[in-house]
Amino acid sequence: MSSLRPSPIAPTVDFDRDGVQHGFLRLPYSRDDSAWGSVMIPTCVIRNGKGPTALLTGGNHGDEYEGPLALYDLARTLDPKEVSGTVIIVPAMNYPAFRAGTRTSPIDKGNLNRSFPGRPDGTVTEKIADYFQRELLPRTDIALDFHSGGRTLDFVPFCAAHIRPDKVLEAKGFDAVEAFSAPWSMKMLEIDAVGMFDTAAEEMGKLFITTELGGGGTSRAETVRIARRGVLNVLRHAGIVSGAVEKVRTQWLDMPSGECFSFAEDDGMIETMVDLGEKVEEGQVLARIHSVGRTGVAPHEIRARMSGLLAARHFPGLVKAGDCAAVVAVLVG
Ligand SMILES: [Zn+2]
Repeated sequence: MSSLRPSPIAPTVDFDRDGVQHGFLRLPYSRDDSAWGSVMIPTCVIRNGKGPTALLTGGNHGDEYEGPLALYDLARTLDPKEVSGTVIIVPAMNYPAFRAGTRTSPIDKGNLNRSFPGRPDGTVTEKIADYFQRELLPRTDIALDFHSGGRTLDFVPFCAAHIRPDKVLEAKGFDAVEAFSAPWSMKMLEIDAVGMFDTAAEEMGKLFITTELGGGGTSRAETVRIARRGVLNVLRHAGIVSGAVEKVRTQWLDMPSGECFSFAEDDGMIETMVDLGEKVEEGQVLARIHSVGRTGVAPHEIRARMSGLLAARHFPGLVKAGDCAAVVAVLVG
């Protein structure tokens, strides 16, 4: 690590200064329409003396909106007098992707959440990852990274932390998830954890929680309310914002194995047979994929590989072989 060159990103805020600062992570990006131009990633620091540091992020994927809606709002409204410590808010981490309304960056097709630890001399997306890896995560005590399903998935709204080898940190993660108070709370399993922001933070021994709050490339009134309440609750839970956590009853879910996931094996038109949040039995048909190239073809059925609750589904009406069609989670307690 020490042999890496410094990050090219220059913040226009001082992370150690008290008060409210609205500025940018300025990332030089030379291109046709701006020879000495930059990507300007909006960043807010709200600090009041010594205390823990929270890193609050949205827009890691550019087509997910609950996090950015809650975090632009928080940056505008959080009074430093209510804060003990530091709140760093980056509401649109992969800002080029966020501006394009796409999961990945239009500049380099980079998926920020598969680009960690990043590179200071890599693509624009890798440079963003590297800055979080080497500059922001080390000064963080608790990180909350908002996600939802984006254009291609939809979720029951949940806050999540991962099963971790360090059981003390794992318990702290689940406590923070409980404090967030989404209707559902998830012990989350990843399909592919390599390169994720989550993994980078956890390997550094940081407390890290995330969300999946909806999807379909938009937001809903309910899911945005959950995000706004959740972020304040996490700051209260961490002792950074004063006041009691506004607890709402949450139902815990677990993703015990890869059997949770069902993938499409055909292209076609998907028919959802179960709605989000409904209970399902092992073997039950979750969705049917209809062949559209000709008439007279029986649909292909996607069946639940375990009993539980439908936690996520493919969103658009058309599906391709390999797409994640459904996710079943197990009810805990
Ligand atoms: Zn995401």
